[in-house]
Amino acid sequence: MPKSVVTFHYTLRNKEGQLLDSSSGGQPIAFLEGGGQIIDGLEEALRGAAAGAKLKVEVAAARAYGVRDASLVKTVKRSMLPVDELKLGDMFQTGQDRHAPVVTVTAIDGDDVTLDANHPLAGVDLVFDTEIVEVREATADEIAHGHAHGPGGHHHH
Ligand code: ZN
Repeated sequence: MPKSVVTFHYTLRNKEGQLLDSSSGGQPIAFLEGGGQIIDGLEEALRGAAAGAKLKVEVAAARAYGVRDASLVKTVKRSMLPVDELKLGDMFQTGQDRHAPVVTVTAIDGDDVTLDANHPLAGVDLVFDTEIVEVREATADEIAHGHAHGPGGHHHH
């Protein structure tokens, strides 16, 4: 069965209705079906949708960015951190690799700094309002690479 590339706009809120993220006003997101480019629960809901469809999709935390893991919260000495300025909410990548975990500064108490390596959306039930912009058949290249190309997809060629 041919795979599709689906392009969509989204607005993401939590269950309390607080706005977390949105693609509106920017580039819509493109993904290859089954490519693991977007969270599973969302991809499942958008599969088979037609252009123009507007879908409200709720994805429980466990199927989105996971539940919060208390063991990923650590307190370190400020002097261990390679930065001069430090404030609540600052985010650091813990290594050179662009996939290295990102930690967020969640508390500063004198010389003690608390770093949280949970994804900022861990433990959050997500509510997406989506609008399908385009559905087209995936190219052989896209299937071979496992991701969508073109606007909203990968640009590495
Ligand atoms: Zn590619």
